[in-house]
Amino acid sequence: MDTIALDPRLRHANGFLGRTPRMLIDGKMVAAVSGKTFTVYNPATGGVIASVPEGDAADVDLAVAAARRAFEERRWGRITPSERGRILWRIADLIERDLEELAELESIDNGKPYAVARVADLPLAVDMFRYMGGWATKITGSTLPLSLPGEYLSYTVREPVGVVGQIIPWNFPLLMAAWKIAPALAAGCTIVLKAAEQTPLTALRLAEIVQEAGVPPGVVNILTGFGETAGAALAAHPDVDKVAFTGSTEVGKLIVQAAAGNLKKVSLELGGKSPAIILPDADLDIAISGAANAIFFNHGQCCCAGSRLFAHKSVYDKVVAGIADIAGKIKVGPGLDPATEMGPLVSDDQFNRVTGYIEEGRQSGAKVAVGGSRVGNLGYFVAPTVLENTTSGMKVVREEIFGPVVCTQPFGDDDLDAIAKQANDTIYGLAASVWTRNGGTAHKLASRIRSGTVWINCHNVFDASLPFGGYKQSGWGREMGEEVFHNYTEVKAVTAAL
Ligand code: ADP
Repeated sequence: MDTIALDPRLRHANGFLGRTPRMLIDGKMVAAVSGKTFTVYNPATGGVIASVPEGDAADVDLAVAAARRAFEERRWGRITPSERGRILWRIADLIERDLEELAELESIDNGKPYAVARVADLPLAVDMFRYMGGWATKITGSTLPLSLPGEYLSYTVREPVGVVGQIIPWNFPLLMAAWKIAPALAAGCTIVLKAAEQTPLTALRLAEIVQEAGVPPGVVNILTGFGETAGAALAAHPDVDKVAFTGSTEVGKLIVQAAAGNLKKVSLELGGKSPAIILPDADLDIAISGAANAIFFNHGQCCCAGSRLFAHKSVYDKVVAGIADIAGKIKVGPGLDPATEMGPLVSDDQFNRVTGYIEEGRQSGAKVAVGGSRVGNLGYFVAPTVLENTTSGMKVVREEIFGPVVCTQPFGDDDLDAIAKQANDTIYGLAASVWTRNGGTAHKLASRIRSGTVWINCHNVFDASLPFGGYKQSGWGREMGEEVFHNYTEVKAVTAAL
């Protein structure tokens, strides 16, 4: 293995990185059964930052058995809802206590600027545990009037779905773990979570926090390992009742196939190609900076990134020039450098994918207004890129790039149905934003767009209370809000003849 070269700018994460990172199975921090580890790289340099356990099917078996025992013995279920809520709050408090350490780990592992991790990922994760802690006491059924002869009492109860397998991506590592673990715990489930192989560090640190917060053994199990081995074993496991997946649409389809063996419940939060639509009456200053943020936030590595920009032809040139100007000024650099506004892409693979798409766009006739190339010659940095003159048939417009690349297109129409048709011309349906000063137009367009989220004069606005998920091939089910409990509960109807 290459030698570990820690960044001298790290202030808080050295302690964790100095220990041997372990997975959490049945209340114990453990190595992989095979003894194998894999290397974690710093995307800013390509250098080695850690090695972590390479969990595989054998570790999944142990973790699922532990989660099953914890579920059957009601180690979590017999704790009162209010105490469960309190434990979720304790996890939130501990994340808050260790905010700097976790933000450093996230930055060095994923590449994102430390400040972004510190003010976005981490507070949102804290909030998710607190919000879901509140739900632990509020998951209820209803009483139902029957229309049969005779007297009955009928009611429903929402019960935990059981052992839940959760597979998360690398773009918001700790936040995605929070999106998954917090509601499943509130619902009373037991959990086996697999972190993304590109970004395992904060999940392993969270494993320690979960222990410290007093979650009983086996209730939350956290594994690191590869998708094709550990992930596939979890999705196919016959003793897992439900799998919740966030990642690419391509892998989402594999998850569905793997889940078929025991017909486990599946929820999927998948890819997107979200439109940002700028109408001629928009406040252009707000729309231009908003649309730039829609694509460049988190280096475009967001499933809901505003990667297709539609601007009315009367404002198109101004919009493209404005976004290109912003893109050209974004400071690209290592996440731990305080001046950095955009870090590297997460991995070599991702770098090759994104630069490959840019090249493909060029060859199919798109004009690069700004960016389009690598930054520096170390690490996986790609310049924020604006493509002009893209058309609906181009691969860069149809496929999810998952990088800082926006495809811009003018539209001439004032007819909202025609605008919506263009926006809806995609296999995806995750999110959209509409930029206009006219409230009526905004809401009419919102009703015509087929996606799980529509933002008006904003983009990338998240809150634990807002359900998030996709229409079409962007997924099944919703994360967050009250809606998420459809993922983690079964409904039982109880009827008594009186
Ligand atoms: P990306 O392409 O953006 O890396 P993926 O969808 O490949 O996203 O990965 C998201 C998560 O899915 C990761 O935790 C990864 O390990 C996991 N994964 C990848 N392939 C599989 C698979 N065949 N079965 C289960 N999980 C997988």
